[in-house]
Amino acid sequence: MLSAMQTMQSSYMWSGIIWAIVVGLAIGNYACSLIHRLPRGRLLLDKAPYCGSCGTLLQVKDLFPVISAMLLRHHCRYCGVSYPISHTVTEILLAGLSVLAFLQYDFSDRAILLIIIGTFLTILSAIEVNEKLIMGKVMICVIVAGMILRTYLDHGLFNFVLGGLYGVVTGAIIWYKSITREGHIYRLPKPAELMAMAGICVGAKAFPVFLLLFIISYAAIWVISRLLQKYFRITIPFSLAILLPLFGVV
Ligand SMILES: [Zn+2]
Repeated sequence: MLSAMQTMQSSYMWSGIIWAIVVGLAIGNYACSLIHRLPRGRLLLDKAPYCGSCGTLLQVKDLFPVISAMLLRHHCRYCGVSYPISHTVTEILLAGLSVLAFLQYDFSDRAILLIIIGTFLTILSAIEVNEKLIMGKVMICVIVAGMILRTYLDHGLFNFVLGGLYGVVTGAIIWYKSITREGHIYRLPKPAELMAMAGICVGAKAFPVFLLLFIISYAAIWVISRLLQKYFRITIPFSLAILLPLFGVV
């Protein structure tokens, strides 16, 4: 783990970490806009950042990642409506992710691809938390980024095509009861689609390891979810069970 870190000089490492945090927070900030807008059919360039409740355009002071949200205690400055805590979690998650990517792969193309996949996966999870919806469009973004990463790492298409197939078969077996049929077309349930997506991202060779990690994280999330729901009424999204092991393997 964190192989690039061992050969870095400490002054370089700390400068890199600072940059990784800044970039990660900025990406997280944009991701929050997408998390709000995508399920509502709006695009990022439609309108400057605005409050989802009262529609007031936000000013620069409202847009500092993490800090603005903490100062305002997750409430809109203009209308006072509270906004989802997933915003701050998203920003912190993506800052952490980009630090990890930097420590593991330095500032490299591989680190960038990893951050791109992580960003789309985080958007996918956050939309699932907020809207109880797994968005196909965001899944396609993850799949495209995953295919590019795999082609770059494997120097070919075979590994990810087979990985995707493993994912489809595994998903169809686990969730066979939820497969629906429309005319001649069989439709996989969303969790099975997520499994296929993960298969593409990790490739066939690493798929068994991924599956093992998925079972562990799914069990852990199930237990923690039960506890959190009892005391805080927080649900952990299913897509997180795929997201976490994905990072252990990619
Ligand atoms: Zn407002």
